Amino acid sequence: MARAQDLRQAITSVASRPGPVLSAYLSVNADIPENQGRTYLVRLRDALNDEGVPEELQQRVREYTEDETHPGARTLAIFADEDGLFEIYRLQVDVSESFRWGDPYVAPLMLVLDEYEPYGAAVLDAERFRYFVVSPLSSAHGEEEMKANGFSEVDVHPSEPYPRGGTDFDAESRRTEAHVHSFYKELGELTRDVTFREGVRRLILAGPRERTAEFRRTLPNELQDRVVAEEHVDLGSPEGEILDRLEAVRERAEHERKKELLDEIRESGVRGLDETVVALQEENRVYHLAALWELEAEIRWCDNDQLAIREITGEECPCCGQKTRVRPLTDVLVDLAAARGARLDFVLGEDENTDTLRDEFGGIAGLTRF
Ligand SMILES: [Zn+2]
Repeated sequence: MARAQDLRQAITSVASRPGPVLSAYLSVNADIPENQGRTYLVRLRDALNDEGVPEELQQRVREYTEDETHPGARTLAIFADEDGLFEIYRLQVDVSESFRWGDPYVAPLMLVLDEYEPYGAAVLDAERFRYFVVSPLSSAHGEEEMKANGFSEVDVHPSEPYPRGGTDFDAESRRTEAHVHSFYKELGELTRDVTFREGVRRLILAGPRERTAEFRRTLPNELQDRVVAEEHVDLGSPEGEILDRLEAVRERAEHERKKELLDEIRESGVRGLDETVVALQEENRVYHLAALWELEAEIRWCDNDQLAIREITGEECPCCGQKTRVRPLTDVLVDLAAARGARLDFVLGEDENTDTLRDEFGGIAGLTRF
């Protein structure tokens, strides 16, 4: 599993390329009707042409994507240039499609890294233990096999042999129970090590309920508050089924996390475009932003100062006098959040969170330091 830190470094190095670089975000999500029959290959070909990407590079990108019959991702992020750069990332999230030949465009990728925290899932019963990590993105050259929903399995090797025999209700299994306990204790420590190493901040425990409860009690303290869910799962189920369950739990936990963020903003935050941009850009007191993914708005931007200009008619920058341009608000938010060190959560779909954000907060809001 490529660590978030390594990915961050790789992305930073792409961003520092002088260009021109091809930056492409291609939707390959098989669940989206527009992608039936791999029609994204046609969109890619047209876009590469439209952007004026050199023919040789076009061919290389096309060959790579055509060979991939099951991309195992929702979005492919492709970076390539004529000096040998050829990086492909698999995103387990839907990112709006875009193609650019010019300056490297890595903001959406950075956003995915920031926004979608890796989840860990410890799946166990009395005899078995498996640890899965789901990351929002992985490099195409990852050494580990990608399973359903972007999960990959991390090998965990306890020093003791796995306890065998003895069911929970077996009167003779007292010794086995003691064995299970010490087995769990060691697994707890191994889980802590893997969790820290993989940068996992949110942990799911899955298995028979009495087992996950027991395992949770034996977990090292520093791991206790990372547990976001316990889920009753039968380890005898097919792996695909287990991973679907884990993905459903992860989505529920993410929904809860965003709901809590919005509740906190309601208590002590800023809301609406004007107030939020001022607090973020001028007062530098926003540390966590929430914005609707489908924000249709546009805003003026000064390239020279890297500042949003709130006067939509202001063709000249009030700071430096240079010409401004109009940009999609979402792009500007990504840039501003990166520059000010604020975390940015986009909220998409249709649920109570998007309702709150749209109807109560005007589409954008932020949590403030003071
Ligand atoms: Zn300016």
